[in-house]
Amino acid sequence: MADPLIIVVSGPGGVGKGTIVAEVCRRDPSLVLSRSWTTRPRRPQEPEDAYVFVSRDEFERRIAAGGFLEWTAFLDNYYGTPTPGPSSADLVLEIEVDGAQQVKRRHPEAVLIFVLPPSRDEQERRLRGRGDSDEHVAKRLRKALDEEPVGLAIADHVVVNDRLDGTVDEMLAIIDQHRSAPLAR
Ligand code: 5GP
Repeated sequence: MADPLIIVVSGPGGVGKGTIVAEVCRRDPSLVLSRSWTTRPRRPQEPEDAYVFVSRDEFERRIAAGGFLEWTAFLDNYYGTPTPGPSSADLVLEIEVDGAQQVKRRHPEAVLIFVLPPSRDEQERRLRGRGDSDEHVAKRLRKALDEEPVGLAIADHVVVNDRLDGTVDEMLAIIDQHRSAPLAR
């Protein structure tokens, strides 16, 4: 049997990655979505299982134990992907670009998909709709602009999220393509 794929979905904040990835995994139930750890507090409307929410101490203990496939500090909080256990399922990670680069270094065969927003206005509207403070939204927008050139440079595929259904179709097609023709290790 072929080795499982690692599919990394990255993109600037407000691009709709979370919604896309949830729909991709719903439409292809053989995909497993990795659950990240974070030290960020849970947002009011956010599901309890959106992340494993932990203290900085807990996070740092896991770093010391080598328990992350990748981790980063993003806008004052830690985020990390727990090292996956042995599994034959294709794994989807929804992470920012620094983490995507780390995964690609460790796993050159990983498939990096970078998602772009249809427009800056739409991106800003989505970021503002989450209930974060104006200051936090401004920081996220600046961070998003920094991330974009790096994301574009390292991506194996770039997808513009102008319509959810179309974006999900495109991602599923990319995944199928790599199931039959994996990238070189
Ligand atoms: P948010 O705070 O909006 O949930 O996430 C902030 C950023 O962190 C997003 O770009 C998200 O994709 C990214 N992120 C979420 N989990 C991880 C992770 O495990 N590792 C890395 N490197 N980034 C993550």
